[in-house]
Amino acid sequence: MSRQRACKPTVKRAFVCVILLAMLVRSAAPSHAPRQAQGSRLSDDVRVRAALDWFTPNISWVNDQQARITEIPAPAFQEAQRAAAVKELLAESGLPAHIDKTGNVIGELRGVNEKEIVVIAAHLDTVFPPGTDVNVHRDGSRMTAPGISDNGSGVAALLALARAVQFAHLKPQRTVLFVGDVGEEGEGNLRGMRAIVDTYRTKLKAVVVLDGSGTDHVTTKALASRRLEALISGPGGHSWSDFGMPNPINALVRGSVRFINTKVPASPRTTFNLGQIEGGTSVNSVPYEARLKVDIRSESEDELTRLESALRECIAAGVRDEMDSARDRSKGKLEWKVEPLGSRPGGELASDSPLLAALRAADEFVGNQSRIERSSTDANIPLSQGIDAISIGAGGSGGGAHSLQEWYDSAGREAGLKRALLTLLGVSGVAEEKSR
Ligand SMILES: [Zn+2]
Repeated sequence: MSRQRACKPTVKRAFVCVILLAMLVRSAAPSHAPRQAQGSRLSDDVRVRAALDWFTPNISWVNDQQARITEIPAPAFQEAQRAAAVKELLAESGLPAHIDKTGNVIGELRGVNEKEIVVIAAHLDTVFPPGTDVNVHRDGSRMTAPGISDNGSGVAALLALARAVQFAHLKPQRTVLFVGDVGEEGEGNLRGMRAIVDTYRTKLKAVVVLDGSGTDHVTTKALASRRLEALISGPGGHSWSDFGMPNPINALVRGSVRFINTKVPASPRTTFNLGQIEGGTSVNSVPYEARLKVDIRSESEDELTRLESALRECIAAGVRDEMDSARDRSKGKLEWKVEPLGSRPGGELASDSPLLAALRAADEFVGNQSRIERSSTDANIPLSQGIDAISIGAGGSGGGAHSLQEWYDSAGREAGLKRALLTLLGVSGVAEEKSR
């Protein structure tokens, strides 16, 4: 009201009013959304320009770090050595870094506003078991090794961004955490990202995940998934003398055949995978145990629930079939259970979020076009809790993820690095030079 009264409709007063309002908006900016949301405007800043220009002459450094990191084995729950190497590299760049109690490495670039945090993260772990040959073979710009792209390229980009901002003496508005997180793959069940979101929840404004190669997509929709283990157990015995007793492997096979005949809809897209099966101790023993690990994914939580029930019913039916056909039921019966190994909640970024606007502006700056994707990534955790998050590739190209033939080609990776940097700075904001 008082402001209205002060602004009587004379031209002069109206002008003063506009100026005052502009000053108000300006002084309020650091505690709200950062002012510089446009990649094109950001890149007018001489320090942002210096950071962007850091990548091209330093590409071989980035490639070398990627090879070095990839050659440190990091199976699930065994990421410590790789985390230590990333911590050292962040520290060398001038970022104070520490390892949290979950095993995540965190490098901190303090912003003007320390009460608001933006996270940029790349997962450290791989799907490959201990003992896998992770030596990197290089041929020009092409590198081949398990984990070289997923997520050697993401970790290398994380390190490159940290170097570039330090080189350019960039100070963000919001504090930026450079995070190498553990437990993204498989049974890690996103434990690293869960810990980050738990710790910084109230301050966390946005999460940018770097996962794999490319610049062709932006994951804004979190694909919900569940991982389940079926376990069937029985007395076990001798293959000859106990023939006819209920056999857990037989029951598991019977149940599995039923389950893989379950119909799943094309829309909402729903998938299942029998990923691991084990049991038994020798060829001439009736096993006492059989296990099956199943991954189910869907665009719909309802379909996930339906498929999880179907798995339980099929395993129960497999056990029943085996008991019914056992010649000698006096030698004990089978027990079964289906238990969750993990679940990834779904979620979706709002189409008008500042984070998506920052990504689009960055795309425009590097002349890139990217499509929106739904996928299961570290971004699931913040998205499921209403925190803005995306997952993007780290540039270059790659293929054969999760296979021993995995490859990465660094040609053109600068575009991916610039895109990631401008997206990050678009949501963190850049401080005025004087507040350095
Ligand atoms: Zn990955």
